[in-house]
Amino acid sequence: MTDHVVRAITDDGSFRVITARTTLTTQRAARVQRTTGKTTEHFANLLTGAVLFRETMAPDLRVQVILSGAGGRGRLVADSHPSGETRGLVQLGKGSAPIELGGDARIMLMRSLSSGRLQQGVVEASEEGGISAAFMSYMQQSEQVVSMLAVDSVIEADQVVAAGGYLVQLLPEVDRSVLGVMTERLEDFRSVARWVSQDDFTPDLLMQELLYGIPYTRLEEDAVRFGCWCSETTMLGALTSLPHADIEELVKDGEVLEIECDYCHTEYKVAPQRLRGMLSPS
Ligand SMILES: [Zn+2]
Repeated sequence: MTDHVVRAITDDGSFRVITARTTLTTQRAARVQRTTGKTTEHFANLLTGAVLFRETMAPDLRVQVILSGAGGRGRLVADSHPSGETRGLVQLGKGSAPIELGGDARIMLMRSLSSGRLQQGVVEASEEGGISAAFMSYMQQSEQVVSMLAVDSVIEADQVVAAGGYLVQLLPEVDRSVLGVMTERLEDFRSVARWVSQDDFTPDLLMQELLYGIPYTRLEEDAVRFGCWCSETTMLGALTSLPHADIEELVKDGEVLEIECDYCHTEYKVAPQRLRGMLSPS
């Protein structure tokens, strides 16, 4: 079974709904980053949230979400590409303390706008509301979109065994009486762990449960998978931030430079000649 998202709209035009299965994507990302304990759960949920947010607000653009742990201890990065490829990065604080919510924990969301500008905002990540509530308050505050969102994951022995979630977005045509019914229903869906942990879990199954008895039209589905879009060129691009003298030093050494991508751990061997190109005035 593959990871994907399914989109639907209720026939009365009140709600847009997106459901996601992200089990394999978050499992691979967590394995590559070697997460443990509570960090695994937060990481999986952050990645699922980033996918849902991109699919809703910027399906054709890239979305990055950064969670800074409580007490300034560590950060998690979720990075979702319009191709569906999604990657993440875990940077633990001193002593490899696990990432914790609550206190001064914050989530920063960034998405590029079609104009090329960057839309970004920061919200707090409380312990009780978790990552789901942080995404919801960002949608409300920065994007002025009322939505209900839940992301969940099932973790066993530091491995993600199931992950997914949904986002229900109110459309401007929303009928107030229908809104009441939906709000009440979603009380039962504050956590979706019960659904995502089912062996036969699919985004369509969750959609049917969420919209039970409400006529809706299923729109397209999109694939989601773990993937990194790094290349030798992007890795060299990162080197351009180094001081000129450091690059000169590397060229002088004449050794093949080994650079590893932090997101996927692919190793690149860069010949000194390629670095020399970076020194020539352009
Ligand atoms: Zn990579």
